[in-house]
Amino acid sequence: MRIAEYGIKFMHEHDTGKDDIITIDGPVGSGKSTIGRLLADRRGLIYLDTGAMYRVVALEAHNRGIEPDDEKALQALCADIEISFAHDNDRQRVYSCGNDVTDAIRQPEISMLASRVSAVKVVRQALVQMQRKIGHEAGSVIDGRDAGTVIFPRARFKFYLDATVETRARRRYKELVEKNIEVSYKDIFQDIRKRDSDDSSRDIAPLKPADDAVIIDTTMMTIEDVLEKISQEIDTATASLP
Ligand code: C5P
Repeated sequence: MRIAEYGIKFMHEHDTGKDDIITIDGPVGSGKSTIGRLLADRRGLIYLDTGAMYRVVALEAHNRGIEPDDEKALQALCADIEISFAHDNDRQRVYSCGNDVTDAIRQPEISMLASRVSAVKVVRQALVQMQRKIGHEAGSVIDGRDAGTVIFPRARFKFYLDATVETRARRRYKELVEKNIEVSYKDIFQDIRKRDSDDSSRDIAPLKPADDAVIIDTTMMTIEDVLEKISQEIDTATASLP
């Protein structure tokens, strides 16, 4: 598993210091990626979408005919693929071995597959190693399921976003429709429930808040409200440091 050179260069443009790590975990549709991206921009940090990395592994496994429980083949796949990120107007673009897979990895089928490959130990080991490297090289906002519990258990700032399943399904449905991906609300709702349950009940790195995470229920909050709340928490914690 490699992160392409141009991806790293892009990230270094925003390098502001090694110790600035903010983790944002939570279930599908809790607002992690929107908030993570805006927060990173606001604080001059890089943004790392760890879910996109699992999605790339899932897409490549799908394209190469690898079964999601074939550990050996997944391990070889992880050693082979190269993931990179870039920004295009306000949108993050994701590349796998130089190919733009930004839209392909958002297909509902790949979401479900990502949840399956992410439960495989060798896949997590390869990705977590890469995520730590990126986070240590540059200050980062890391979004995922295990960012505060496994990837950076000693991160200075940890947040866990949540919302009702109905709210999250509505948000995800709207997002996919805006990307011209054909879906039904009912399917999205069911997929989310299944992913919630699989992600929370797996043995390795299950979805759960870190003991020291600030938990925010975003159901009734706007993006601006959540950003404001997170910024206040960070500023208060920073001001009280010796
Ligand atoms: O966040 P996103 O929905 O893009 O993630 C896709 C899937 O990847 C999740 O359902 C989850 O199973 C997995 N994932 C994970 N650990 C992370 C990020 C995502 O297991 N840190």
